[in-house]
Amino acid sequence: MSSSETVDASTARSVLVTGGSKGIGRAIAESFAAAGHKVAATYRSGGVPDGVLGVQCDVTDAEQVDAAFKQVEEAHGPVEVLIANAGITADNLMMRISDDDWSKVIETNLTGSFRVARRAARPMTRARWGRIIFISSVVGLLGSAGQVNYAASKSGLVGMARSIARELGSRNITANVVAPGFIETDMTAVLSEDQVKAYQAQIPLGRLGGVADIAAACEFLASDAAAYVTGAVIPVDGGLGMGH
Ligand code: NDP
Repeated sequence: MSSSETVDASTARSVLVTGGSKGIGRAIAESFAAAGHKVAATYRSGGVPDGVLGVQCDVTDAEQVDAAFKQVEEAHGPVEVLIANAGITADNLMMRISDDDWSKVIETNLTGSFRVARRAARPMTRARWGRIIFISSVVGLLGSAGQVNYAASKSGLVGMARSIARELGSRNITANVVAPGFIETDMTAVLSEDQVKAYQAQIPLGRLGGVADIAAACEFLASDAAAYVTGAVIPVDGGLGMGH
């Protein structure tokens, strides 16, 4: 499996993307499918792209996670490449974050990612091959006023990935983090024009990113070219988080 190249049936991997119904996850699923891999994507509402196996799953529910993996295993074989992408925001100033808004962000972004990684790990260990990719955020490294819950969840993914990299490295399983900057999706569509302009002014490349930029980084991390990359945090942020 090499980066940005199509594969044949003998080298196609079983890939699972969480949160593949829209935005970044959808683009990741599309790009792995276009390269010839056997791709499944989870959704809660909405559908998944053509050519991708859709499995309904809320990552906050351990039983649904297990059922989703079983469906993928039956259709495509054990998951070899996991992309933990499902995520939400519930932004507010810290003093106004309710316990509920704290818990639901941590439960989805951090615990949900742990749950899918844990479920994927045993078959990967048996196969002596696996790629686990967590979609974090520049905000997890840089911090962001009004996103204390979200930033905590996203920086937690870094410690988790690096610990998994240490636990499972001897089994030829890599665990890495992609840290997107400001990417145009539904998640960022809620921001005001002024907020977008303020972000843009801080981005050395002077523009917002696209979903394909994130998919390309994931393809690289899943490829043979990245076989010696583990515990890494790859920023895809136009330079927004440089040095963090
Ligand atoms: P979207 O809001 O467009 O998509 C989020 C996806 O996550 C949807 O498919 C949604 O499914 C799924 N999802 C949310 N909650 C759950 C849950 N409990 N169980 C299963 N799936 C769930 O967001 P983006 O595409 O923008 O973001 C994708 C990831 O990238 C997130 O982790 C986000 O934090 C991260 N990110 C995004 C950035 C950006 O600028 N857009 C920047 C940095 C990081 P459904 O709609 O079916 O509920």
